[in-house]
Amino acid sequence: MALFTTILWDVDNTLLDFQLSQRYALEKAFEANHLMVNEAIQSRYDEINHAYWKRFELGEVTKEELLKGRFLTLFDAFGIQNVDLPEFMRVYQTELGNVFFYLDDSIHLCEHLKGRVNQYVITNGVTATQKNKLKLSGLWDCMQEIFVSEDAGIQKPYPGFFEYCLGKITEKNKEKILVIGDSLSSDIKGAVLSGLKSCWYNPKGEENTTEYIPDFEIRNLWDVLKILAEE
Ligand SMILES: [Mg+2]
Repeated sequence: MALFTTILWDVDNTLLDFQLSQRYALEKAFEANHLMVNEAIQSRYDEINHAYWKRFELGEVTKEELLKGRFLTLFDAFGIQNVDLPEFMRVYQTELGNVFFYLDDSIHLCEHLKGRVNQYVITNGVTATQKNKLKLSGLWDCMQEIFVSEDAGIQKPYPGFFEYCLGKITEKNKEKILVIGDSLSSDIKGAVLSGLKSCWYNPKGEENTTEYIPDFEIRNLWDVLKILAEE
């Protein structure tokens, strides 16, 4: 009998390629403001955005501060002025939810798992954006429910977020629930702090320098099948 009955999936950079979506959305937001975007701006934004999300996970900034601050920091770094910030943010956020890029053909994996295990999404992203992306990509059809931190009022890695999810899912035995995600600081840390089993999606084979040790580690999402079969 399979140990795991339930998978809690992270979305960005786990089921879907966030980097590609982000590049697309940033380009659209610049275009809408009649500005040119180049590689230097794209890669700098990537760094800035990543740093803001880390600070959000640590509770150092609010979601509001993150959503605005990352662009203000970017504009400041490149001396970009006279941007209609609310409009820029609106275009960016809308476009982010309009495209999706599967990682490891995740849609077929989730379809394959449907009916075998209960699957849920756990994400810190912006609710409207995430839900749109999940609908368009077909991933939503594979999930029992979508849990967004905005709705929970608390984000990964805080145990409060996982408690919120646990209160809503069918499985009550923590041993039978597997959290899968790419982030050690949100997905794996959150699972460890909440007493859930975890699987680190580590496609680039990076080193884990944190104190949070996942129960499993995979390079390809399909390796999840081995974990489910072994148990
Ligand atoms: Mg992620």
